[in-house]
Amino acid sequence: MNPQTLFYIIIAILAISFVIDQILDYLNAQHFNDPIPAELNNIFDAKEYEKSQAYKKERYRFGVLTSTVSIIAILLFFFLDGFAFVDAMARSLVSNEIAIALVFFGIIMMVSDILSTPFSYYSTFVIEEKYGFNKTTRKTFILDKLKGWLMGGVIGTILIGAIIWFYQATGTDFWLYAWAIVTVFTVLINLFYARLIVPLFNKQTPLEEGNLRSEIEKYAAKVGFTIEKIFVIDGSKRSTKANAYFSGFGSEKRVTLYDTLIQDLDDDEIVAVLAHEVGHYKRNHIIINLFVAIITTGFTLWLLSLFIGNPLFSEALNVRQPSFHIGLITFGVLYTPISGITSLLMNYLSRKFEYQADDYAKNTFAGSPLISGLKKLSKNSLSNLTPHPLYVFAHYSHPPLLQRFRNLSK
Ligand SMILES: [Zn+2]
Repeated sequence: MNPQTLFYIIIAILAISFVIDQILDYLNAQHFNDPIPAELNNIFDAKEYEKSQAYKKERYRFGVLTSTVSIIAILLFFFLDGFAFVDAMARSLVSNEIAIALVFFGIIMMVSDILSTPFSYYSTFVIEEKYGFNKTTRKTFILDKLKGWLMGGVIGTILIGAIIWFYQATGTDFWLYAWAIVTVFTVLINLFYARLIVPLFNKQTPLEEGNLRSEIEKYAAKVGFTIEKIFVIDGSKRSTKANAYFSGFGSEKRVTLYDTLIQDLDDDEIVAVLAHEVGHYKRNHIIINLFVAIITTGFTLWLLSLFIGNPLFSEALNVRQPSFHIGLITFGVLYTPISGITSLLMNYLSRKFEYQADDYAKNTFAGSPLISGLKKLSKNSLSNLTPHPLYVFAHYSHPPLLQRFRNLSK
């Protein structure tokens, strides 16, 4: 194959995945005005429903704009040999191959982050603000960016540095060592996420004394979960939207409830949501997801090891001196069809897990407070009650409210 052909395959993959995404978004938008299913017609009154329609449409238009600008920027970067330019720039600044790769990725990440910042600013301070969701201050927005860069910089430097070092030391066998270090990292992050990463962005506090706490204690004792593992997070610092999640495993397991969730829901609805989260733990969902992620990473790295030494991967991007980091860019694009399929499978699995957690909540607590809790959450976040099935299949990690309602009322 000549480099030119590979270059056009890369362009074709980028273009086709953009088109597929646009078609899915379009199909989904065609269903915005569908009549609300009878089971869910008590969620919005006419005025709120109108507001939710407007919100969905505005989000859709904004999504089309963002992804169009982004694909144009990406295609321009490819056609104008942007990677060759940044590679040469990195080589003029440092000489060690690992340092070149780090500077290269550093520049790419910075530039893409700077280009996307106006869009995320508009999303938060114009759209979310207009519909009353936004609680983020400008200061928090900027601090989040800086902390994100710092965290990405530290983790990226360690992982990319180590992987290239393994590649230099062991050749194509590098993938085994890389797999080992990425696995260790993934396990540690899963384990200590709540202890190390969350505190950088939010405050976590134990549940306050009171009726809710004693209700939760009663439930937790019944299913063998300890109250010390239940935390409240200040989600209201950024948005009025509510949430809850389970994280960690072993002695680090915990359920985190947003303060906004506690504000919006009744006590028995909160216990039902908590029961759902405990269900994720009881059914080992965290461990299974972790295992699947580790296997996928191993497969990806193995595949990478088959191609990374091929100079064609660098030549396709018009870079004369082959290198790991340029090969990684080409590989990354060529891998998108496969990662597309794995993300479909992961979403499918995740939706299965949601049903299992709902069933667990229903069997150990009750179904009806979970239904009413989920309805309130949908109402308060103006969520889409009539998504297109293909869109759900491709993008939803949770089943739509109607399906959860039907499953819970069985
Ligand atoms: Zn869940």
